[in-house]
Amino acid sequence: MNVNKLMAELEAKHPGEVEYLQAVREVLESIEEVYNQNPQFESAKIIERMVEPDRIFMFKVPWTDDEGNVHVNLGYRVQFNNAIGPYKGGLRFHPSVNLSILKFLGFEQIFKNALTTLPMGGAKGGSDFNPKGRSDAEIMRFCQSFMLELWKHIGPETDVPAGDIGVGGREIGFLYGMYKKLASENTGVLTGKGINWGGSLIRPEATGFGATYFAQEMLATKGMSFAGKRVALSGFGNVAWGAALKVTELGGKVVTISGPDGYILDEDGISGEKIDYLLELRASNQDIVEPYAKKFPNAKFFAGKRPWEVKVDVAMPCATQNELGKEDAEALVKNGCVCVAEGANMPCTPEAIEVLQQNKILFAPGKAVNAGGVATSGLEMTQNSMKLSWSREEVDARLQQIMKNIHEACVKHGTEKDGYVNYVKGANIAGFLKVANAMLDQGI
Ligand code: GLU
Repeated sequence: MNVNKLMAELEAKHPGEVEYLQAVREVLESIEEVYNQNPQFESAKIIERMVEPDRIFMFKVPWTDDEGNVHVNLGYRVQFNNAIGPYKGGLRFHPSVNLSILKFLGFEQIFKNALTTLPMGGAKGGSDFNPKGRSDAEIMRFCQSFMLELWKHIGPETDVPAGDIGVGGREIGFLYGMYKKLASENTGVLTGKGINWGGSLIRPEATGFGATYFAQEMLATKGMSFAGKRVALSGFGNVAWGAALKVTELGGKVVTISGPDGYILDEDGISGEKIDYLLELRASNQDIVEPYAKKFPNAKFFAGKRPWEVKVDVAMPCATQNELGKEDAEALVKNGCVCVAEGANMPCTPEAIEVLQQNKILFAPGKAVNAGGVATSGLEMTQNSMKLSWSREEVDARLQQIMKNIHEACVKHGTEKDGYVNYVKGANIAGFLKVANAMLDQGI
């Protein structure tokens, strides 16, 4: 494999798909050496087959708002690779959603799901629908219209969607209700379900809990822990709130969260009732950061800025792709940050990652750090198949073990000659080998 030649071909085929091309380049650069040592990969054209999705569904989603006006959004499902199990991955509802973003997310999901050790292939979907400011009834009508098309392409043994940005428990409920009316089966087709109708305990918190367990393992390689550490989180969606709970429980202090309108710095720590208040704000589909700063006067609001300028020990970007750039990484290094763990998918730009790695900062990519979310989705699928539910303790113990295993796999495949763990390389190689070998076993 020649990375530059392959990338030039992909760029010509998919012009302008910047996020997708960025995600592919990162993986190709990490696996190049391993790939070229195994001629069977080249002769089966494994990488050419892996970088293109199996298929993409694209459809219109018409819906009416509360005033009776008609809107039309675009819906997508990208089924990327099912070599190791049914397609699996979230749905994102956000105005920025386009094919490039969903292809990058679906591609990442292949490796992330392989790292969990559970049998799940990679997929992603969503819509450019903007839930901000919409009523529950509008969100319900949108979800119903979206599922009216999507249901034909999914099923518990073929493709199992879940949440992502803009899709949480409420949306999964509306989507599931519609799916049940259309399909003649009842369980397992979506994960992130409510606890009374087939969901798993811990699933809502799992991505943030898992990310914190992973960061704890990273810190432990340097003989450190969360106790007494200052932690910057960004976002406050499906990932950051679970991370805020777990970091606090482990003795760390969360000092920032952010939204599209800016970030807040709360030197008193963001925990307990403050987290409950943020969840209430979030459920009302409104911006959360400015109202938080009004309610808790010790908190400072920085409009239009990102939290990476704050002096912290650990940074966990949990908002969205490319939210932490080169200058942010330089600021973190300058201020003594020791660990950057990606809670979101690809939140650090390649230039930012280079700065962190050159400075030998502990840095791990989203596909390893945030895999606890989809891993717990896998545990939800297992419970659905077995028609039983595990206790909180049981799910949490499995989640912790999975995060430990992922960390071990990264260390095994990513430790460099000087002892520095390149988690990007480790995660990509471990995930790639599992999927590539499954593809080899299954023929062309
Ligand atoms: N959207 C989450 C992710 O990026 C969860 C996917 C799932 O549970 O299927 O991994």
